[in-house]
Amino acid sequence: MINKKSDRPQILVSLDSTYIASGQCDCDGGDCACDLSPLAKLSSNIQLSLGMFETFVRVPNSQIMNLNDTYSICYGSHHKVAVLNQSALYLLNQFTHPHQLHDISIQHHDIDQTDLQTAIEELYQARLIAPKNNCSFHLQEIPETLTAWLHISDRCNLRCDYCYLPHLAKDMSIDIGRAAIASIFRSATLNGYRRVKLKYAGGEALLCSALIKNLHLYAQSLSKETDIILDGVVLSNGTLITPEIIEMLQTLNLRLMISLDGLSNFHNIQRAYADGKSSFQDVERGIKIALENGLIPDISITVTGRNAEGLAELIEWILEYNLPFSLNFYRENELSASHKDLQLEESKLIEGMLAAFKVIELKLPNRNLLGSLIDRANLSSPHKRTCGVGQNYLVFDYKGQIAKCQMQLYKTVSSIDEQDPLTVVRQDKAGIQNLSVEEKEGCRTCEWKYWCAGGCPLATFNATGRYDIQSPNCNIYKALYPEAVRLEGLRLIKYS
Ligand code: SF4
Ligand code: SF4
Repeated sequence: MINKKSDRPQILVSLDSTYIASGQCDCDGGDCACDLSPLAKLSSNIQLSLGMFETFVRVPNSQIMNLNDTYSICYGSHHKVAVLNQSALYLLNQFTHPHQLHDISIQHHDIDQTDLQTAIEELYQARLIAPKNNCSFHLQEIPETLTAWLHISDRCNLRCDYCYLPHLAKDMSIDIGRAAIASIFRSATLNGYRRVKLKYAGGEALLCSALIKNLHLYAQSLSKETDIILDGVVLSNGTLITPEIIEMLQTLNLRLMISLDGLSNFHNIQRAYADGKSSFQDVERGIKIALENGLIPDISITVTGRNAEGLAELIEWILEYNLPFSLNFYRENELSASHKDLQLEESKLIEGMLAAFKVIELKLPNRNLLGSLIDRANLSSPHKRTCGVGQNYLVFDYKGQIAKCQMQLYKTVSSIDEQDPLTVVRQDKAGIQNLSVEEKEGCRTCEWKYWCAGGCPLATFNATGRYDIQSPNCNIYKALYPEAVRLEGLRLIKYS
């Protein structure tokens, strides 16, 4: 390996991924909106200059992984994922011991001083170095987005084996839906949220497309009235898509998320119609209709013990169409428990995921994947909680009752009649407890903790009877996280 420390230092940084995975639970892990403090604030405040006598130091707990002879990736949840060439790595390593910028400038006299200044600024912006007297890491949770899941229908034309719904012939009424949306905006206003995100879900939400239209127009009017930004997505099984539906979604500025678990039989073995008929062809057709009409759907993949083997070929297909996607792990529920073969067998799942990663490596997309490759983890922005449950998340059933998580739709704790349902949800001590990763045994000392946050609290509770312990999928996560980081490094090099 050539150590060309006099080359121009090159630092490639991953932008934060706001992409939020969907699928069986569509949990919105990234919406917990944490901020790094005080480093984040300092990043924009200090004007660096090489003449400065202030002492800087490398931020602790970062890891370095070699990507090839030229580049290494530096990662750690205290800072951004960054790819460094040899020269930049050499520069970063100099800050392992505190250094004044003035001294660094003298030591690097062989590098163009403008390039050096830019490199130091980039290391600082990426939070890889910080002033010595202000480099302690502290993660603040700040309210940003209030997310609401609107269970507009319990009906569905499919009978997926992992579904947690009883499939009653029940839809939400327009009045209930509007009252739900009004209560969401009430809570958002009272609790200082800047953004509301609505998820129209079922059952199959597109069985009620007229209701979606009515409710979203109402949401738009409240957004305007309250000056709160509105984001909306329809979660669909993809079988009912027509050009007219796509046009409606586009007019309403709604995104579309389609569940697809494999190509052909790898999809059909867990997502068939109520009469047992295969659904893959119809979903494929739906995706193509969306694309032909100018709407790019997000693909949500639920990984189970049944379809893990087929992930590689599915990802190849998805990348051919350049579609955004997320990989989510199956969570057992009371209705799916009898399908034992859905359970995640560690070695089989890791093998299937790594095979999919290999395919991604050959065709790296031009978008950050760190928030969508591995279940609930978001490896591009630090956060303390896996999802927004009990914090910034409301789940409405068709009757206007409010639960904390869609997988426990029947455990309601509030309703549309409440002045501020979010406060009631936050105060609930009986249902799911979404603890900070710092409160989870086994996670406190984990290098991945602020990216992983300890996994789905419900899955952990179902497996262990506890919320204050690491995820039952911990071994899987730890096997996959380094590979996901490596992929991101290769991607940054490709598009640099
Ligand atoms: S679940 Fe495992 S990988 Fe995740 S933070 Fe806890 S110990 Fe780390
Ligand atoms: S508790 Fe689990 S299933 Fe529920 S929203 Fe959170 S991560 Fe998803």
